[in-house]
Amino acid sequence: MNDASSEDVFQNLISSNDTFLFDCDGVLWKGAKAVPGAAAVVNFLENLGKQVIFVTNNSTKSRDKYVDKLSSLGYPSDKEKIFGTAYTSALYLKHIAKIDGKVYLIGNESMGEELDNVGIKHFGIGPDNVATSLDYDDIKRCKLDEDVNAVLVGFDGHISFSKLVRAGSYLRNPNCLFLATNSDARLPLGDCKHVVPGTGVMVASVCTVAAREPDVWCGKPGKFMFECIQKTIDINPDRAIMIGDNTKTDIVFGKQNSLKTLLVFSGVSSRDSVNSILESSDPALKEQVPDYVLPSLGDWAEFCS
Ligand code: PLP
Ligand code: CA
Repeated sequence: MNDASSEDVFQNLISSNDTFLFDCDGVLWKGAKAVPGAAAVVNFLENLGKQVIFVTNNSTKSRDKYVDKLSSLGYPSDKEKIFGTAYTSALYLKHIAKIDGKVYLIGNESMGEELDNVGIKHFGIGPDNVATSLDYDDIKRCKLDEDVNAVLVGFDGHISFSKLVRAGSYLRNPNCLFLATNSDARLPLGDCKHVVPGTGVMVASVCTVAAREPDVWCGKPGKFMFECIQKTIDINPDRAIMIGDNTKTDIVFGKQNSLKTLLVFSGVSSRDSVNSILESSDPALKEQVPDYVLPSLGDWAEFCS
């Protein structure tokens, strides 16, 4: 593991890579605020002619919404270079699973927007509290739609008992596809004192009630995310680097796709967490060890003038 703070290492990474894949939250921004100096670095790379790609597990925004967010924070915002899990889930359902029935969606409006964009029928967005007790007459209020042949789970602030009744009931059918966006357990909200459940909590609830694991994960570190990128963008993995803040998602994603990896400490994973991985004798954790570390992407800004 190398420290990437020096200008020599920065220049070396520039000359040895044509493609820079950036995780978003924790690398480019934290919640609504840009990471200081990060936009200068990303624009510098783009102006050098490097291929800049954005790869996020956050399912709550459509590609169009990421265009708005990236441009409002001063980043390049080419829609074709943005890969979020709302978009990749829609691609999976349309082009791989070729779903012709309906999708039961535990997610938000942006996920619905991406499904609409590819013509996939869906329902489930918004509050659903028709059943709240174990009384069978109450449970029966969760009417089941016979045309459902996939359940998709992303971030849903309205997750509820009724939604779990429906998801579990649809997934009793082994032919009903189970798709999940990502397994991030908690959302990093900067200085917020609260623990905020991430999509992984919602997926785990559905897994438990359905007694099944997802058939496919549409986000990092799953393989499908990289397949989506490669379908439209030519990447030579030998000359590409994944830059992220989470060892479990970003670094494993980079390693599994033979990319170089760089971990920044401005988000989820800390230097201490990397040190405990290094000290662990569990070989499975090796995949989480990045090739390079850097306190923050913005630390390179001083080399970009
Ligand atoms: N999922 C949700 C719902 C989020 O809000 C976030 C970060 O804000 C993430 C996942 C992680 O996104 P990323 O892969 O960009 O770090
Ligand atoms: Ca992140």
